[in-house]
Amino acid sequence: MKPVFSTSEPPILKVTGRNYGYPVRRIFCVGRNYAEHVLELGNKVEKKQPFYFTKSAFSLLGSEKNLTYPPMTNELHHEVELVVAIAKPLQKANREDLKVSIFGYACGLDMTRRDLQSIAKKQGKPWDMSKDFDGSAIIGKITEAKKVPDIRKANLKLFLNNRLQQHGQISDMIHSVDEILLDLSKYTQLIPGDLVMTGTPAGVSAVKPGDLLVAQIDGLTELKVKITE
Ligand code: MN
Repeated sequence: MKPVFSTSEPPILKVTGRNYGYPVRRIFCVGRNYAEHVLELGNKVEKKQPFYFTKSAFSLLGSEKNLTYPPMTNELHHEVELVVAIAKPLQKANREDLKVSIFGYACGLDMTRRDLQSIAKKQGKPWDMSKDFDGSAIIGKITEAKKVPDIRKANLKLFLNNRLQQHGQISDMIHSVDEILLDLSKYTQLIPGDLVMTGTPAGVSAVKPGDLLVAQIDGLTELKVKITE
């Protein structure tokens, strides 16, 4: 069928050192996955099951770009996160399936309208407007998994105007990458093009126009973004 208007193609993420890209389909995000961050937002640490929210692929912003400060917020927070890119279909996965299931990893920023999220939490309402807006999923170049010696040993850091603002270890995750993929694949079939943002360590804070954000995870390509009016 001929569409009544032409739509934009899904975004494509650059892959470090390659001349091909990774077309993005869905973006899943894990909430409350580092204990100290759970506590800094006044929540309880629970090791039961991960929980998820999503961002549209069209909310994606690449590295070396400007993020226009979004409307309807006075408290835009950065959350530095490890992003996992899926390589193979995964449904009700077992540990054996996971071995070849990850295409690569990237640095990500789960940008959050914290003021709207706090209201939504109090009222038991959905998080969409606090989590999924234009440019809210900032994701850098993907580094292929085979080029990353052991992501579990990596540090993740967020520099706000060249000052270290968040610093955590992947090993501090409450639910590991494997545990997340095993669990998430019970709910939906993950397929190539799907990304998972795996939660943020402590130190989240507000940004303003003019700020420079740099995210680093050992072994991965750095992510850089500037906030503009
Ligand atoms: Mn997050």
